[in-house]
Amino acid sequence: MATTKGSNPAVLITGASRGIGAATALAAAREGFDVAVNYASDHPAAEAVVAQVRALGRNAVAVAGDVASQAAVTAMFDQAEQALGPIAALVNNAGITGPIGRFADVDIHNLERILAINVLGTFLCAREALARHAGHGALRVIVNVSSVASTTGSPGEYVHYAASKGAVDTFTVGLGKELAAQGIRVCGVAPGSTFTEIHAKAGEPDRPARVAPKIPLGRLAQPEEIAQAVVWLLTPAASYVTATVLRATGGL
Ligand code: NAP
Repeated sequence: MATTKGSNPAVLITGASRGIGAATALAAAREGFDVAVNYASDHPAAEAVVAQVRALGRNAVAVAGDVASQAAVTAMFDQAEQALGPIAALVNNAGITGPIGRFADVDIHNLERILAINVLGTFLCAREALARHAGHGALRVIVNVSSVASTTGSPGEYVHYAASKGAVDTFTVGLGKELAAQGIRVCGVAPGSTFTEIHAKAGEPDRPARVAPKIPLGRLAQPEEIAQAVVWLLTPAASYVTATVLRATGGL
């Protein structure tokens, strides 16, 4: 049975209708968080995650919205706080790679969407969380989901995506230092290749089989393994960790 509004800390997770975000929603619920499940388009999938969170005894709400739109970000925070109370934690997880290929072949639409969702979306959600915090003082932690790509550069696949995650890492370090005196931690998690639909959406459903031999652990991550790293950073167990990026890359 779900608990009453505000009795548990609330986390807003962007892009939580599937993949790493959905696994993070369930792991956060097990840690005692109520969860706002943001999604872009797949309402049934988001509602399925909400149902699973509620089955774990926590409150949850699905909040639609493109993270690259300020109006949508404002609306999603409004809905989340109305349903769950003040947002205490934000996970900036929504992200896209665009099609796999060489940089010279990338079209302007994909370049703009990758930067808009991965970078601007992270900025807008963090800024919105801080604006709310100025009113209620509840925000404790922001976790930005980066990628192993930010250090490998992803040559031949999506260097522009890799660079967008480099921007996210720099933002994590700088904002973490800026907010430390306020008691707000800002951390990143850089996943290695993980079994989600992101590879099929990039145009190569079999990418996991191609890249697995290059990973020291010899396999891709399951979304739940990345979720564990994210949720640890959300908890007081990580109270002395800020302005840094935790690599969960299988050794890459
Ligand atoms: P995924 O399975 O493709 O899921 C992406 C999620 O983001 C979906 O819930 C999708 O919602 C949502 N989304 C997409 N565009 C959005 C937008 N504009 N606004 C709000 N939500 C949006 O991706 P994933 O593999 O779990 O990746 C999650 C994060 O991990 C991303 O930041 C990605 O870059 C990073 N990462 C992934 C891997 C990997 O190998 N999977 C490795 C390193 C880093 P809808 O379904 O409703 O559209």
